[in-house]
Amino acid sequence: MQLFVSWLTLFGLAHALLAADRPNVMIIIADDLGYHDVGFQGSKEIPTPHLDRLAASGVRCTNGYVSHPFCSPTRAGILTGRYQHRFGHENNPAWKPESTHDGLPLDQITLPQLLKAAGYHTGAVGKWHLGAHPQFHPLKRGFDEYFGALGGGHVYFPEDKGGVEYTIPLDRNGADEPQRRYLTEQFGEEAAAYVKRQAAGQPWFLYLAFNAPHTPLQAPEAWLKKFSHLSPPSRQTYAAMVAAMDAAIGQVLDQLEATQQRENTLIFFVSDNGGPNLSAKGTGNFTDNTPLRGAKGDLHEGGMRVPFLISWPAHLKPGTYEAPVIALDFLPTAVALAEAKLPEDRPLDGVNLVPYLTGERSGQPHERLFWRSQGPKGIHAVRQGSWKFFRAANGQPELYDLNRDIGETQNLAAEQPELVAQFNKAIADWEKGTIPPLFESPKAGKKAPKKKP
Ligand code: CA
Repeated sequence: MQLFVSWLTLFGLAHALLAADRPNVMIIIADDLGYHDVGFQGSKEIPTPHLDRLAASGVRCTNGYVSHPFCSPTRAGILTGRYQHRFGHENNPAWKPESTHDGLPLDQITLPQLLKAAGYHTGAVGKWHLGAHPQFHPLKRGFDEYFGALGGGHVYFPEDKGGVEYTIPLDRNGADEPQRRYLTEQFGEEAAAYVKRQAAGQPWFLYLAFNAPHTPLQAPEAWLKKFSHLSPPSRQTYAAMVAAMDAAIGQVLDQLEATQQRENTLIFFVSDNGGPNLSAKGTGNFTDNTPLRGAKGDLHEGGMRVPFLISWPAHLKPGTYEAPVIALDFLPTAVALAEAKLPEDRPLDGVNLVPYLTGERSGQPHERLFWRSQGPKGIHAVRQGSWKFFRAANGQPELYDLNRDIGETQNLAAEQPELVAQFNKAIADWEKGTIPPLFESPKAGKKAPKKKP
């Protein structure tokens, strides 16, 4: 574990100065990005110079997780700082604009609400996927402005065909707006424009959620040509989509630099889940989660251990951080730096990571991390130190020492019955703070989208 020079001592001495200079906060989310599919994670096939520059400017968390192995629940966790199982958001909401039920429950307090109360301007660009009814709209959940696609995904070109959810008009602050160009480029352009607009004003929070490189696999010709050597064709298109997203992120970073905001902007980057393995559907396995086992939807590491960056050049020295962290930590970290207030009437599960990243605090931010998918009787996983416990829906335990076996190949459960019992008890205790899912994910093939969002 690399230690960093503490800036908190300085903070004590110059609190008044820094209070006037609270950081901007940006969360960038990729959708269904493979663990090994960006340069800073070791990809040789897909160059991502802009994400690599972001990585070089900050801390790469090598044991970084999201709180779910698929789309919407991870986002519910990020925006609340809580295991989404606490409030029943364990599945993807169907595209049901008439439903006041399927979406991020209205009694949940979001990060933009907290930052807004502390004087931040709050913007969101991109995929929403936290409810289709107007009551769930980003402007009702703490954002001052929004531009994007409200569903679980979207076609990338205006002329592309698809199901209802994937072809709805884009939304700007509650009004329909036609799609103009390749969606990833449009989201990058919108985010860069937001950063430029806010440069002279109060501190701001931008939630930038790409739907890339999620299916449908569609990419501009210029990017496709750069990857013509890759096969199958799905891999070529996927690589082009990742590269286009990288360029869009580069546009935002350039604008931050041009407006002298980069130093004091805290940027988080994650994928919302691991790369999917859709080879059974005839598309070829176009994502690469090497060296992890499993894929999107699974609670082996490939499902929810993701590329994970935290960059704040003004105060965090570049390097790596190895203790397990989770995207639930974004909220308490941002709230602390914004000098905003955490809700006191409910348990939070994330922690402020900055003291750990600077070396101010030693030890692990989390004693244990938990995952559950498919409800209380579904699959579970726990991370504790280097141990990874996995329990199938039928109760079969698996235990791995990730320090020696990151690919989860040697099940040590039979050799460690006491540990297995401890993990089963830890899950039972954790379950007491959760509720069953409030809504079910849409059935594949019944409605758009054709694939699980
Ligand atoms: Ca996803």
